[in-house]
Amino acid sequence: MAAFSRGRHRLKLLGRLSCQTSTRRFTGKFDYDLVVIGGGSGGLACSKEAAQFGQKVAVLDYVEPSVKGTKWGLGGTCVNVGCIPKKLMHQSALLGTAVKDARKYGWNISGPVTHDWTVMAEAVQNHVKSLNWGHRVQLQDKKVKYFNMKGSLVDEHTIRGLTARGKEMTLTAKNILIATGGRPKFPTQVPGAMEHGITSDDVFWLKQSPGKTLVVGASYVALECGGFLTGIGLDATVMVRSIALRGFDQQMAGLVTDYMEAYGTKFAWKCVPRKVEKLPSGSLEVTWTDLNSDQDHQDQFDTVLWAVGRAPETKTLNLDKVGVQLNPETGKIVVAPDEATSVPNVYAIGDIAEGRPELTPTAIKAGKLLARRLAGQSDELMNYNNVATTVFTPLEYGCVGLSEEEAERRHGKDNIEVYHAFYKPLEFTVAERDASQCYIKVICQREGNKPIIGLHFTGPNAGEVIQGFALGFQCGFTYSHLLDTIGIHPTCAEELTKIHITKRSGQDATVTGC
Ligand code: FAD
Ligand code: NDP
Repeated sequence: MAAFSRGRHRLKLLGRLSCQTSTRRFTGKFDYDLVVIGGGSGGLACSKEAAQFGQKVAVLDYVEPSVKGTKWGLGGTCVNVGCIPKKLMHQSALLGTAVKDARKYGWNISGPVTHDWTVMAEAVQNHVKSLNWGHRVQLQDKKVKYFNMKGSLVDEHTIRGLTARGKEMTLTAKNILIATGGRPKFPTQVPGAMEHGITSDDVFWLKQSPGKTLVVGASYVALECGGFLTGIGLDATVMVRSIALRGFDQQMAGLVTDYMEAYGTKFAWKCVPRKVEKLPSGSLEVTWTDLNSDQDHQDQFDTVLWAVGRAPETKTLNLDKVGVQLNPETGKIVVAPDEATSVPNVYAIGDIAEGRPELTPTAIKAGKLLARRLAGQSDELMNYNNVATTVFTPLEYGCVGLSEEEAERRHGKDNIEVYHAFYKPLEFTVAERDASQCYIKVICQREGNKPIIGLHFTGPNAGEVIQGFALGFQCGFTYSHLLDTIGIHPTCAEELTKIHITKRSGQDATVTGC
């Protein structure tokens, strides 16, 4: 997780910006103060904020259809093929569990409860389309010019736009922002992967149920998709080549996958896919190797969903010609703390930028702050440290700060105190649900007043819980601040304010009583 540091990062940038502007080759007036390439989370936020400060702004957004031909509207990954449809499908899955609980709570639900993919998908897609429309209206209201065009750089002040029908346009701008995000990768070394598989660019737009699904990958996207597919009653297997949720606290990752397994998701641990073949029946036959035994296995699936990471969307931007430096390993754009690229007047934010979290709120905040700096309204830099996040798996996992492994690495095992608790959400009791994986971990430094350096929570509404505590984190709270906070009873989040058993003590961490 992100480096541990606090406080606002400010830099006197204004002098530097005006210095950059003076190096420009153009002396005449530009068409725009700012042209943004990419109308996703970061690009839209930046363009609207800049317009608010009186800048003349244009946004170019263009969606290259997925390999399977799926396409969508304005708003980028989050709105169309990410956070929003994912969270709604996750909600659909949670409701399935809630219906089961409901019987215990006195609801008469006669007959089997079944799920209809088509109804869910249509409702989700309609909501997404309303957001696409909303973004267009907002741009119009804020007087940001929107072009449904693929953008590329001609030079540091000139952008070429190309429509799907091949119509070209050239714009000039004082500043250019690249916010083109990324797209899912395919494992090209696996025969049949691209031909027969889908990715997160497709799954939310399927008209028919994906049926029995193999999800390959073990990070956010794989676990979230595997989780909601199981939750709506499908046969879902997650294939993990190494560990789940790399970079996260591994004890917490284990709880997340244990819960998923207990609730029906199958896991193929330490397995790698070898090939995908389409059978005459239309089923997909997948061959994989179990790395433990070195044995090959086969099974048939209706759908194979690749969730093996994302590639930055730079191919068509012409960046090498203009000299925008990329990280050769990741292909992402190298950026300075003020989001500047190696080329003056050209900036990059969001998923396309090297070393940034691939999360919507960071892209949005970075975009807004950049707009304010470019408009000469502020010199505040984006603080990428201690960004809270949540994995929307069937048992949600939210965290902020360091994992236990990272805390030990940075501070030494003897210099940290880990408080922990296994708790039972009240709503699980009447429903007689197993709460073995509902767990809280607070990691503090042992010295001084025990500053908190990591906070982890698995349980219902983890995102809501962690969002609140992230504020404390940002304010530099300590273990005693946590204990001084009066809980709200009866909630899951209150367990954080009562946490008192240390791992070091070896005591049973199960919360008992009210
Ligand atoms: P994007 O939102 O990807 O926008 C880039 C836009 O630029 C796209 O519209 C693209 O089509 C367009 N574009 C690309 N090239 C060009 C070009 N040459 N010309 C014109 N336009 C171009 N984050 C969270 O915080 N919470 C979540 O719950 C969450 N869930 C996710 C679930 C999934 C399945 C995925 C895949 C991602 C999820 N994310 C989540 C991550 C989040 O969606 C991204 O971090 C965020 O969208 C990045 O914003 P961005 O502005 O950098 O790029
Ligand atoms: P990640 O890059 O985080 O993870 C890729 C996963 O695929 C890893 O488990 C990796 O395993 C595995 N993998 C890679 N190549 C192969 C292969 N050839 N065969 C088998 N497995 C492979 O990608 P995601 O797409 O899951 O997520 C991208 C980003 O999107 C995240 O980092 C996150 O920031 C954002 N996101 C945020 C969400 C949220 O906020 N809730 C939800 C979804 C996405 P290994 O560890 O072995 O390399």
